[in-house]
Amino acid sequence: MKNKNNKSFLKVNEGVSQPPNINPYLSIKKRKKIYSEDYYLKGILEKDITILSQAITIVESTLPEHRHIARNIIQKSLPYSGNSIRIGITGIPGVGKSTFIEHFGQLIIKNNHKLAVLAVDPSSEKSKGSILGDKTRMESLSTNPSVFIRPSPSGGTLGGVARRTREAMILCEAAGFDVILIETVGVGQSETMVYNMVDMFLLLMLAGAGDELQGIKRGIMEMADIITITKADGSNLQRCEIAANEIRNAIHYLPKQESGWTPQVTLCSAITGFGLHELWELINKYFTFVKNNKYFETRRTQQLKHWMYETIWDLLKENFYSQPEINKIIQENEKKVLNNLLSPVTAAEIIIDSYYKILKNNDKYH
Ligand code: GDP
Repeated sequence: MKNKNNKSFLKVNEGVSQPPNINPYLSIKKRKKIYSEDYYLKGILEKDITILSQAITIVESTLPEHRHIARNIIQKSLPYSGNSIRIGITGIPGVGKSTFIEHFGQLIIKNNHKLAVLAVDPSSEKSKGSILGDKTRMESLSTNPSVFIRPSPSGGTLGGVARRTREAMILCEAAGFDVILIETVGVGQSETMVYNMVDMFLLLMLAGAGDELQGIKRGIMEMADIITITKADGSNLQRCEIAANEIRNAIHYLPKQESGWTPQVTLCSAITGFGLHELWELINKYFTFVKNNKYFETRRTQQLKHWMYETIWDLLKENFYSQPEINKIIQENEKKVLNNLLSPVTAAEIIIDSYYKILKNNDKYH
């Protein structure tokens, strides 16, 4: 929807400016006013979407001075979180993810739920903005007050992107969103990241594109609790039925799921609405199944542990690259490696030794 100045009516929160990936000290631009953690917590619990957005921006920030307040916001929100179903959605670009979420999301809110759509997009650093979870691609959904859409955080490592998404999810849950969809692309490591933060994994596939063509790795198929063939409409419907049967046969050969659930294959069309209602029922059936056999709880506990270990690595990396002196030392040693003057291992050891020295000389770490 555009107004006469050709500006979108969709409200986009500007957020806190982000530093570059490597060294957060290099370019610190304009800063927004930061309020107290209790201000953010109160706003979140009062379901104030603007404050929720601001809090997520702080949580997403890679600026070291935001970490403290971010940590406290998450810590205080945690007791109010968890009362949701968390669903990962993946599929190659073009499979119809955003169209699907736009229409499936409508069905979810019609069932009296509040929906948050988050994204994990490892390419967002390169593409300077997320290709996923984009409000302009889910326009009618994004204007609904029961829906909160947040694109992938950019900057930092993939682990960092995953951590920030997980933290954003906690804040959304504390703000009363009880269905969380986390969207990602069907290639690379991002699926494993998302798998480790959701209760259920939905894989969207195209009929007749061939597994290789779809970039769907066996590992991703193994993670899927439900596989849905998209665009099952018009002349494509029959091809989708054939593809669904082929996949049903193929998944027999996959290892049994830890949950005890047998993965299901369904068809849908976001455009005609075919299969969407059945899919929602199947998702509910899955949740009843894993809640009854306690897998739901077990998995969430495992994920808390995973979250802690992942955060350790991520914070170490962030701290390493945030040392103002470290870039120069890396570059000097990289040059020597490229000129065959140093082995990569020796160079890495020199860099790490320098890092320890920097920490030793820094009062902050005493
Ligand atoms: P994404 O890249 O996975 O988010 O895919 P999009 O949602 O952008 O969809 C890619 C293309 O597929 C667009 O041109 C959509 O209009 C089309 N598309 C999406 N869903 C359907 C569907 O259910 N039926 C048909 N016929 N086309 C669809």
